[in-house]
Amino acid sequence: VVKIEGLHKRFGQNHVLRGIDFSVARGEVVCIIGPSGSGKSTLLRCINLLERPQQGRLEVNGENLLDPDCDIDAARRHIGMVFQQFNLFPHHTALENCIVAPMTVLRLTRAAAEATARANLERVGLADKLGAYPAQLSGGQQQRVAIARALSMEPALMLFDEPTSALDPELVGEVLTAMRQLAEAGMTMIVVTHEMAFAREVADRVVFMDAGTIIEQGPPDSVIGAPREARTQSFLRRVL
Ligand code: ATP
Ligand code: MG
Repeated sequence: VVKIEGLHKRFGQNHVLRGIDFSVARGEVVCIIGPSGSGKSTLLRCINLLERPQQGRLEVNGENLLDPDCDIDAARRHIGMVFQQFNLFPHHTALENCIVAPMTVLRLTRAAAEATARANLERVGLADKLGAYPAQLSGGQQQRVAIARALSMEPALMLFDEPTSALDPELVGEVLTAMRQLAEAGMTMIVVTHEMAFAREVADRVVFMDAGTIIEQGPPDSVIGAPREARTQSFLRRVL
């Protein structure tokens, strides 16, 4: 689903991604871990071209996103993204938040968009909150609406950037549960997270990044359980 080769991203003098090679297969769940400033969010944002890399190959769903002829809006439709901040439309209910893009972008009828939205809100455990406005929902519930909203575009790939780090600790579990169910249902997911227990349990592969490069990657039991690289070891000593 994702194939990245030799990816470089600079912000002025700041060389943030320094030659990233990274692939994700259909149905795979990949967790990206690493210290603050290592380029995790930038990598995720390059995958849906919220940031434009200066160099490298970036293929998503079989399309070369850096090809000048690529229809980026069309390519983005197949990529769902969930951020640390939920970014819901405050004046729309949970259900409405999930039907706006399917109606305007995918041109679904309201009935069809609502059917999908209901199913997705049910999936994340919010069947009883369809009519609630964001301000009437807890952070965990808002984040689950954000996940349902992304799913309503029927993405081939879901990107999560620290989806639980803005939440009160007691609300983290419900969001991770929704994500775990999504993973079990076969969704292709790339998750930047500090939740090591989640990464260990749910990820097929863990990627450790530091200073703009991938230092080490593999099954969670290796990368988190028995890291080979000194930098991974010292990072894990600090966070575990
Ligand atoms: P964190 O764990 O704190 O979220 P991160 O690994 O996600 O960190 P990034 O947000 O990718 O790190 O940032 C990597 C580097 O890129 C940092 O030095 C940051 O200051 C820089 N950077 C990120 N976005 C921009 C931007 N839009 N303009 C300029 N510099 C940026
Ligand atoms: Mg980040």
